[in-house]
Amino acid sequence: MIQQAKTILKQTFGYDEFRPLQQDAIKNVLNKRDSLVIMPTGGGKSLIYQIPSMIFDGLTIVVSPLISLMKDQVEQLDQFGVPALFLNSSLTSEQYRMNVNRLRAGEAKLLYLAPETLMLDKTRDLLSTIKVDCFTIDEAHCISEWGHDFRPEYRQLAEVRKDYSESVCLALTATATPRVQDDIQNILEMKDSGRFVASFDRQNLVLKVADKENPLDQILDFLYTRSNQSGIIYCFSRRQVDELAFDLKNDGHSVLPYHAGLSDEKRMRNQEAFIRDDARIIVATIAFGMGINKPDVRFVIHHDMPQNIESYYQQIGRAGRDSIRADCLLLYSYSDRQKIQYFINQKEGAEKEVAEKHLDALINYLEFDGCRRIPLIRYFGESYKKTQCGMCDNCLREKGDEEDYTIQAQKFMSCMVRSEQLYGSYHIADILRGSSAKKILENGHDKLTTYGIGKEWTKNQWVQFARLLIRKGLVEKNPQHGSLLLTENAKRVLKGDERVTGILDRTQTAADIVVRAKTTDVVENRYNENLFEKLREKRKELADEQGIPPYAIFPDTTLMEMSYYYPQDEHSLIGIYGVGDTKLKKYGDMFLNIIRKFTRENEVTSRSRVIRQKAKKTASKKKHHLIGKEFNKGKSIDHLAEQFGVKTVTIISNLKKYLDEGNKLYPTGILKASGLSERKQDEVLATMKKLGPELLKPIYEDLNKEVDYNELRILQLAYIAGRRK
Ligand code: ADP
Ligand code: ZN
Repeated sequence: MIQQAKTILKQTFGYDEFRPLQQDAIKNVLNKRDSLVIMPTGGGKSLIYQIPSMIFDGLTIVVSPLISLMKDQVEQLDQFGVPALFLNSSLTSEQYRMNVNRLRAGEAKLLYLAPETLMLDKTRDLLSTIKVDCFTIDEAHCISEWGHDFRPEYRQLAEVRKDYSESVCLALTATATPRVQDDIQNILEMKDSGRFVASFDRQNLVLKVADKENPLDQILDFLYTRSNQSGIIYCFSRRQVDELAFDLKNDGHSVLPYHAGLSDEKRMRNQEAFIRDDARIIVATIAFGMGINKPDVRFVIHHDMPQNIESYYQQIGRAGRDSIRADCLLLYSYSDRQKIQYFINQKEGAEKEVAEKHLDALINYLEFDGCRRIPLIRYFGESYKKTQCGMCDNCLREKGDEEDYTIQAQKFMSCMVRSEQLYGSYHIADILRGSSAKKILENGHDKLTTYGIGKEWTKNQWVQFARLLIRKGLVEKNPQHGSLLLTENAKRVLKGDERVTGILDRTQTAADIVVRAKTTDVVENRYNENLFEKLREKRKELADEQGIPPYAIFPDTTLMEMSYYYPQDEHSLIGIYGVGDTKLKKYGDMFLNIIRKFTRENEVTSRSRVIRQKAKKTASKKKHHLIGKEFNKGKSIDHLAEQFGVKTVTIISNLKKYLDEGNKLYPTGILKASGLSERKQDEVLATMKKLGPELLKPIYEDLNKEVDYNELRILQLAYIAGRRK
């Protein structure tokens, strides 16, 4: 059965291989064993129920709380030629009725439902008349009170699940601590179940934290080299969203806002525009993101600090679902940190304690000097096996970027001591620079021995330096007044026992050329961007005609491969990522025309040979299945030869292969391909009976070389197929 799953993976979805754990989980589901799957966003959870749904006789139910995602999923499945439907409150009563009818008529393999729809008596009645083979619960963490998004209506699923005791239960989620995982399995009474937990590490995300100094400029710097990319910018407040969206728009960016203060309709419109590539950037509060399935989000920026690591991880998780490199930039400032602290201080008891812990973990991540994946992944209870990822700011920093700042640290910190640790970094900087500001003179700070000893730096540099000292754990901010305090560690530096090294300016946000060079994927780095743009335009046009998102036609990866390999014909197109049978038929020609025209005009040569080999490897694996099945449906060998553009002998050898794998073939259909008289046919078959059908040469000899090999092959096939009737 897993072979069949692989065939579907290539033939329907156009992918060459399963991702880690997909195959194991699918196997388990196909064997009707309950399964819990924990896989990060973009890991490929959907295929784990979509592929079995095409193999099972009965229906696969998918319960999901995200209504907007259902439509998206069904649209995407439609493009792949997989019959799926959804039922939820967003449908008009007429659409609802139509879907129910199609369901009754057995026209769908997959049914998406909101939990509250599933709970309705009419739905339960409807489904009681239909054979359900797989009961899937997406976002399964919602069932647990220990999860971060508990939903009471999910609790009742445990009851409803009993209606489908014959079906296999599959629960999926991207985020679940071990405790939540246990909870899910217990509540759903998953029997004899398998648990599949993938790594939390999203390798294609570049993680970067920058000191926030002039956020608008920093963001404009970042966007400058990303004029065609989609991205999300998260802000703390609605007001901030509106302001930033306005500013970016002024600078010529294609951008829309999203927050709870906008009307439902406007929110929906803006989200839709983003999904359909009509707006490139969404500036949003945390209200945005649930139910976004856009695979080609190339960056996520945090203009303000996120609440905790879980939400940060979830938000950056929306980038790069397509496994292509995506950038995550967080602008970090002390005052943001204080804002969060302020909110925490309003809380009480256990709630406050939990919030404090969350904040500590986040700060630890933000101020970490080593590879950022270490604290991030550890947070989710997994240990990071490497010491360097090569895909975070700290790993990408050149060793030579660090400088020795021991002298400046001593100046700054002794100035703090002299002014009795009562002031913030701006004031300390003023003293060091010998400023004659009112506040300095009033406090007599112009009399201090440290007055004017730091003129080598600008005020701004000293303020940045204060951040470095905080990062290094030498200085702390008094949460009430914002004044700076020395920590225990500071003493060693003041005494000259310890040196201070670091990087002063961490405000750079522009694209890292280094990262590009480090990405190992050849296609991703070397595809032809001009062709890519042309293909993108075509994709957008096709998507708009059908009112679906462009990624439902083809993901970026497909267009990148096309713009790298330049496939010239259908045969090589099949080898391209994401091109399955349905999409090949629907769009193949249109994209091929653009590619052919481009290669002609630019005199580039196709790399088809590479891809043809790739295609061959996967195509031949599945082609004989296709041929076998078509043949059994009643198509003649000649007809198939024409359809596949090959000689009849190729069809025959494919059928033989199909047969050799233990499949059945319809023997009388085979004999129709023979040009021999019935009498002669019987003579040959009798010889095969006598000598055995396997070796053709002795049969050829025995028949006095009168019957040619082609005929013998046809009869051999008929003979073996007949035995297996
Ligand atoms: P999740 O639900 O875990 O967030 P999805 O199921 O949406 O992730 O998959 C993310 C993307 O990866 C989709 O575009 C999907 O088609 C693609 N994908 C899934 N499995 C594979 C695979 N084996 N090979 C290539 N692409 C895959
Ligand atoms: Zn790293």
